[in-house]
Amino acid sequence: MITPEQVREKLSTVKYPGFNRDIVSFGLVKDVRVTGVDVVVQMSLATNDAKIPQAIKEGSEAALAQLAGVGQVTVRIDIQAPPQAPQAASGAPMAAGAIEGIKRVIAVASGKGGVGKSTVAANLAVALHQTGAAVGLCDCDLYGPSIGLMFGSGERPMATEDNRIIPIERYGLRLMSMGFLLDDAAPAILRGPMVTKYTQQFLRQVDWGQLDYLVLDLPPGTGDIQLTIVQTVALAGVVIVTTPQEVALIDARKAATMFQKVNVPVLGLIENMSYFLSPSDGKRYDIFGSGGGERESARLKVPLLGQIPIDIPTREAGDRGQPVTSIDPTNPVSEAFVQIARKLNDSLSA
Ligand code: ADP
Repeated sequence: MITPEQVREKLSTVKYPGFNRDIVSFGLVKDVRVTGVDVVVQMSLATNDAKIPQAIKEGSEAALAQLAGVGQVTVRIDIQAPPQAPQAASGAPMAAGAIEGIKRVIAVASGKGGVGKSTVAANLAVALHQTGAAVGLCDCDLYGPSIGLMFGSGERPMATEDNRIIPIERYGLRLMSMGFLLDDAAPAILRGPMVTKYTQQFLRQVDWGQLDYLVLDLPPGTGDIQLTIVQTVALAGVVIVTTPQEVALIDARKAATMFQKVNVPVLGLIENMSYFLSPSDGKRYDIFGSGGGERESARLKVPLLGQIPIDIPTREAGDRGQPVTSIDPTNPVSEAFVQIARKLNDSLSA
């Protein structure tokens, strides 16, 4: 005697192609009927890629065939177009588009890794929220996402009835990571057009709700992926994070130039690890020299949005998955981020 529970259990071994989530937890399975030894499964799926339902059907049939004593297995998949078709009918990538319900998308980029881009993205998102905005934060680093750190937990997002991913809520923000649903092998095959497609699908498949700002934490550098992401989503602009050293500034300039070339407005530079405020004497120490960010922003003709001190509590809080701005508004780093958020609010609503 086969039970619907056994059927669901078997189906939960079938992964959604390219993801490490199974089709049951994704909410694809709508109905299971067992008549004697015969099994009929009804699924519903929003996609415009015919290969996906095919792979799910084959995977499900193979899994159900393993049920002891099973007779005829029928898997029906009801395919609907995604809420907003992520591709033009020709199959060519769409021009950069708006995401429904989101007023402004801001990308946070850096010329190189380790300058504090993710720290800035997280704290900026919290600061924007503190100015009264509804804010989402999405980690777009497909190859080395700092998910665990950013979320401060291994919590997995859930899916809605119609297959949209519900962001995790933390510090008043809606959080998502593009790497969250990919299995370990997927990034290796995500190149060029695949990245475009995945990005479009991903950002539209997340149920962001109504947002004033969506902050995208881009991968470091200026490769194809960054370019694809910024061209896929209509951006209000990009913020570039740098440290004051010459080597970082050179890379920040390259990044700014790349974004300007593809007509993404550079909203400004943020100079991170700008100086150190000594807790003992309150003095400011310009560890990496001073004036670098200012000179570079003048050269690029973009605003210097702020200078963030190098700060031990910021590092400690950040590495615990808690942006300092959310836990200590009196910290000079938090104050700097709130000022940056106000500047962005002003310049974008002007
Ligand atoms: P990126 O995203 O550019 O690779 P991260 O945001 O991951 O950089 O930061 C790298 C490290 O530097 C992390 O340990 C982070 O906590 C720390 N960090 C970033 N900004 C600051 C700062 N202003 N003061 C102290 N530590 C910082």
